[in-house]
Amino acid sequence: MSKRDVTKVLLDENEIPRQWYNIVADMPNKPMPFYSPMTGKPATPDDMKAIFPMELIMQEMSADRWIDIPDEVREMYKQWRPAPLYRAKGLEKLLGTPARIYYKYEGTNATGSHKLNTSIPQAFYNKAAGIKRLATETGAGQWGSALSLACNRFGMECTVYMVKVSYQQKPYRRSFMKTFGADVIASPSNLTNCGRSILEKDPDCTGSLGIAISEAVEDAATHSDTNYALGSVLNHVCMHQTIIGMETKKQLEMIDEYPDAIFACCGGGSNFAGITFPFLADKLKGSKVRAVAVEPTACPTLTKGVFAYDYGDTAKVAPITKMYTLGHDFVPAGIHAGGLRYHGESPIVSQLYHDGLIEAQAYGQKSVFEAAVMFARSEGIVPAPESSHAIRGAINEALLAKESGEEKVILFCLSGHGYFDFSAYDNYFEGKLEDIEYSEESVKTSLNNLPKIEE
Ligand SMILES: *Cc1c(COP(=O)(O)O)cnc(C)c1O
Repeated sequence: MSKRDVTKVLLDENEIPRQWYNIVADMPNKPMPFYSPMTGKPATPDDMKAIFPMELIMQEMSADRWIDIPDEVREMYKQWRPAPLYRAKGLEKLLGTPARIYYKYEGTNATGSHKLNTSIPQAFYNKAAGIKRLATETGAGQWGSALSLACNRFGMECTVYMVKVSYQQKPYRRSFMKTFGADVIASPSNLTNCGRSILEKDPDCTGSLGIAISEAVEDAATHSDTNYALGSVLNHVCMHQTIIGMETKKQLEMIDEYPDAIFACCGGGSNFAGITFPFLADKLKGSKVRAVAVEPTACPTLTKGVFAYDYGDTAKVAPITKMYTLGHDFVPAGIHAGGLRYHGESPIVSQLYHDGLIEAQAYGQKSVFEAAVMFARSEGIVPAPESSHAIRGAINEALLAKESGEEKVILFCLSGHGYFDFSAYDNYFEGKLEDIEYSEESVKTSLNNLPKIEE
């Protein structure tokens, strides 16, 4: 029997990495500096102090290759890490492919996705800085769940502005957050200036991620004991997620494997960063691994967006970053992969894409759910609609390998489970899902409103 003939590869808890990897240290072109929406100039640590603790601001701006994981954080990671790496034997058989397919499963923790990897350290650093409450937004509910649990662990309060349409459609995500003591508010709300001004114009507004971010940032900026936490996009968030890829690398080494291609879904870019950056470190030194970001055709930030400075939120209170964007006014259609409906992208992932170091693909939700159901029926895990984009990419790669007869090694990140997403699955089974193409016209209009930054 070959070493590779495994079902899963596990590591001991002592093998959880002791440091996060900061790819900025190795990038040929560094991500561009943030600009302050207030001053229109490059943001200083002081500009960000109203909403972030200094330790995270320093991580955000750091070019150090390795950053120590605090012992308290590592202890908490032990509850669900190291995460298992599986060989997708059932899926390989279903596809009849000569490729070997592996997936790293980040859905084994209570919140069901990779986001707990960053909510725990973010709560830790805020607590250490004397902060009593964290405010945040949530779209699909996974990030709100992860931050609620982390705040509960550190004895902090948590306020979650939940996009109104999800608040109505995903009641059990709401219940989950309340179980951990969070205050969950439908956004837009009448608790912030931003929310009130939107409701005045449109009392029936169902909200968007951009609006919810604006509300949470305003809440944090106007309360001295309160900070803001973001679940994706920012450099420190991508860095916290690199434990995914570092563990995976060790697990593949144990069975003498190295991936030819890695697939991850891409919303703000954090799980993609998490699984690929430790491998891209090798690529920057000459190895050949391909990293493929998979996004929805309804919100095709990398494949159809522009590389430009833009606001991270609707009310223009969050830092301005150079990234691939569809414009901060672009409101993507209500597809079921709520976690992938963001107009922008991590500045690091954007720079890597711009430099041709990574690739991107986009798929419609029907083919994504087809992949999800193939995966569930061959592997016995119900994947999150977001993660199913990565599965679609991996399946297509495995089918290409079948045509060419190549023995490729394919790795993908199963960023979370879909046990709160059965209404989406029901819609698919009832034939109600539609493939929604993004509207070129609305992106064009939205791109007219980019901020003018003199680089
Ligand atoms: C939030 C989320 C995503 C998208 O966020 P990224 O920052 O792009 O990783 C993907 N998968 C799951 C399960 C999520 O909860």
